[in-house]
Amino acid sequence: MNKAIFLDRDGTINVDYGYVYQPEKLDFLPGVIEALQTFCTLGYQLIVITNQSGIGRGYYTMDDALRFNQAMSQRLSAEGITVTDYYICPHAPHEVCHCRKPQPTMVLQALSKHHINPEESYMFGDKASDVACGENSGIKSYLVTPEHNLLYWANQLKEKQI
Ligand SMILES: [Mg+2]
Ligand SMILES: [Zn+2]
Repeated sequence: MNKAIFLDRDGTINVDYGYVYQPEKLDFLPGVIEALQTFCTLGYQLIVITNQSGIGRGYYTMDDALRFNQAMSQRLSAEGITVTDYYICPHAPHEVCHCRKPQPTMVLQALSKHHINPEESYMFGDKASDVACGENSGIKSYLVTPEHNLLYWANQLKEKQI
């Protein structure tokens, strides 16, 4: 069985400018590169779980979102970081889908596909719905804030404090 770090994208990995999809608006938050390197060193797979309601709202397309994720993977790869997979909910809230966080669907799919042990895995995100999604999936989940950013949590994990 593998272990994984499940990550929200906007506001957790990259700066959330609001409905970001242009690769030139991909700016990593402080400490994120070091945090992700730490997770990799500790043997975790990285899996991004993102709600992209901008697609359902017609602001941009699934292809745009995929291009953004590809740009993210390329820039992280240059830092020695591999993202195993991305899961995107493209729906607007009014579509009442079965994948939008805080529902656990995307995480549960990833657990199954990548043979991940939920008990050894973690979810980090900047919204209560991220934490709820992780908890609904049976995964330890923590909120990312400016004070407790992703690097803070990576160090907590490294020091076996969480
Ligand atoms: Mg977010
Ligand atoms: Zn959805």
